[in-house]
Amino acid sequence: MQDFTYNGIATRVVFGNGASEGLSAEIDRLGCRRALILSTPQQAEQAAQLAEAIDGRSVALFSNATMHTPVAVTDDAMAVVNDNAVDLIISIGGGSTIGLGKAIALRTDLPQIVLPTTYAGSEMTSIIGQTENGRKTTQVTPRVQPEVVIYDVDLTLSLPAGMSGTSGINALAHAVEALYARDRNPVIDLMAQEAVRAMAQSLPRIAQDPGDRDARAQALYGAWLCGICLGSTGVALHHKLCHVVGGTFDLPHAETHSIILPHALAYNAPSVPAAMARLSAALDHDDAPLALWNLASAVGAPRGLRDLGLSREDAARVPELALENPYWNPRPLERSGLDGLMARAWAGEAPIQE
Ligand code: NAD
Repeated sequence: MQDFTYNGIATRVVFGNGASEGLSAEIDRLGCRRALILSTPQQAEQAAQLAEAIDGRSVALFSNATMHTPVAVTDDAMAVVNDNAVDLIISIGGGSTIGLGKAIALRTDLPQIVLPTTYAGSEMTSIIGQTENGRKTTQVTPRVQPEVVIYDVDLTLSLPAGMSGTSGINALAHAVEALYARDRNPVIDLMAQEAVRAMAQSLPRIAQDPGDRDARAQALYGAWLCGICLGSTGVALHHKLCHVVGGTFDLPHAETHSIILPHALAYNAPSVPAAMARLSAALDHDDAPLALWNLASAVGAPRGLRDLGLSREDAARVPELALENPYWNPRPLERSGLDGLMARAWAGEAPIQE
């Protein structure tokens, strides 16, 4: 057996249908009395309902959380924190809202209770990305790790079917790459395999019926595990390609992940037999990249990068850009293999293991 290091996550997790009913008890448990509730403008109503439900334990709402955590928005929220002597941050929403809560925690060390409503998984990581003057910088620090996460399945029922599918496959990509990460370990292997199984079985059911509570519970459970994978191990080729495509050509994050994942996995497959065996078991298919490609289709995700508006010429530039500053990868990065991978991902063709 290979030597390993495992860092446990100290966050308390409460999971269930209607789990947010326990929010007041969680606030009291932390000994807090003056919460600030964060959301996006789109979820301001949900945040207001939460404020009402916790009966005098909140002192303010801030409903301007924005994608990629702009520093100017955090400055505005900090004014609310200081004016109201806030002693707790409550974030209800996806990665954008959770990012704002983390940015406040980074500056103040205030405790956080998070109620995730997407499958992005930020609540399980000590990673924070912030944007200033058009530049995104990322840091990893335990200061931003939330103290409590309440996974209330009911809060995810309103996530639109299309976004549920791509957000779910984006999460699944974290588990897939955790299985062959340089710093993988046996505990994360178990979680990643179970995460892939839970996501792959639930996402097509949600695409058919977004109100299916049992499928929603499975997906949220899977998303929790995927978040732990992201927070615990490094990433490789798949994430590198997505960062290049997303960062350079401004393509949507979750859709890009769902298109590239089968192809990146097919590239790495010959070098990671143990990971492929776990994935085949989780996906109940002897060709895991093809099973992921079929899954993307079942949830209605776009097929190829050209469907997102990327030109063939720009797609052809991606391997060169990725090779300029590569991430560690289990299979050495070879130009010809990456060219073929990107050509197929652009055209929306099935993945090929070469
Ligand atoms: P998001 O938080 O940007 O949400 C997208 C939109 O969907 C928002 O308008 C939101 O209000 C709405 N929404 C969310 N949940 C809903 C629900 N249940 N019903 C109806 N509408 C809902 O999307 P996201 O994909 O969760 O987060 C993306 C951001 O998170 C990116 O900035 C990404 O970089 C970041 N992220 C960070 C980490 C980390 O570890 N730091 C991990 C994953 C993602």
